[in-house]
Amino acid sequence: MNIPSRSSNRQSHRAEPAAAAAPQTTAPAPAAGQQANAAQVAAAPTSASQPTVQQANAPVPSPTAPTSAKQPGNPQDPTSARPTDQRPLALHATNLHKTYGKGEAKVEALKGVSVSIPVGQFTAILGPSGSGKSTLMHALAGLDTIDSGSIQLAGTELTALKDDQLTRLRAEKIGFVFQAFNLVPTLSAEQNILLPLQLAKQSPDQAWVDGIIDLLGLRDRLSHRPAQMSGGQQQRVALARALASKPALIVADEPTGNLDTKTSAEVLKVLRSCVDELGQTVLMVTHDLHAAALADRALVLRDGQIVADLAHPAETQLQGLI
Ligand code: ADP
Repeated sequence: MNIPSRSSNRQSHRAEPAAAAAPQTTAPAPAAGQQANAAQVAAAPTSASQPTVQQANAPVPSPTAPTSAKQPGNPQDPTSARPTDQRPLALHATNLHKTYGKGEAKVEALKGVSVSIPVGQFTAILGPSGSGKSTLMHALAGLDTIDSGSIQLAGTELTALKDDQLTRLRAEKIGFVFQAFNLVPTLSAEQNILLPLQLAKQSPDQAWVDGIIDLLGLRDRLSHRPAQMSGGQQQRVALARALASKPALIVADEPTGNLDTKTSAEVLKVLRSCVDELGQTVLMVTHDLHAAALADRALVLRDGQIVADLAHPAETQLQGLI
């Protein structure tokens, strides 16, 4: 395969140039079932030369001594999210608080959540409805603000950024995969994959993009439009689009929510390959315990707090927690 694999040297992630599109719109994660538009999937270009962007490739050193990946974290300690190993951190969030509403309508959606995610880890976030999964994911991906706390993505403190800086960093450092695929229906698979880069007026790293296309089995579908593809194929195109910019983090929001069991398994397999073969860092919100069990780690949320942090979660283990 012609793909520049990171699996042999995942720290080489540090040296990868930022190549993603930079949106000018602050596109929120669309609700399930919403159709795509270009602003949501890619958005317009801006210069990638700001210091915050250049800093973004530098992973954060692990702040505390590593513990065994087999050990659960300590959800009671909001200041010491569990580092799972000695890899640099793609994401380091500390003591996140988020409250919606006031008075009787007040809801504490995040109550001091801390989490550190090493480069090259596949992490699932799960929990009952209303537990704070979306709020956490939106915060970590810079799609929504928090009331207090710190979020460092690939070395950049998100909470210190202005809207336009955040928009640019998000476009350059995060690849989004949504339940509803959010492909542009009038574009071919190939055009969809390249759209973010095209809007950013950036040339694709053709070897990287070719490798992704092959890894995801999309070579013979490149000229097809979304309507001419199966759900699984569309989601693989969406994943290829997310990967095209070599992001520091892939955020997948219920990526198998619209797929049948067999197709889900295919999509999860390629998501897994993105981690194992490309060294990508994946954060996936899911209700699907089987999907979560394929991750390296599962964070279980309840009432705005992480109540379990499991390495190599087994489905049966998760059943008892959700
Ligand atoms: P999950 O994704 O696990 O279902 P959410 O993060 O969507 O949970 O919600 C966590 C809590 O915050 C819930 O009680 C929810 O009702 C509340 N919440 C989420 N978004 C808003 C909002 N925009 N306004 C008011 N409350 C909200």
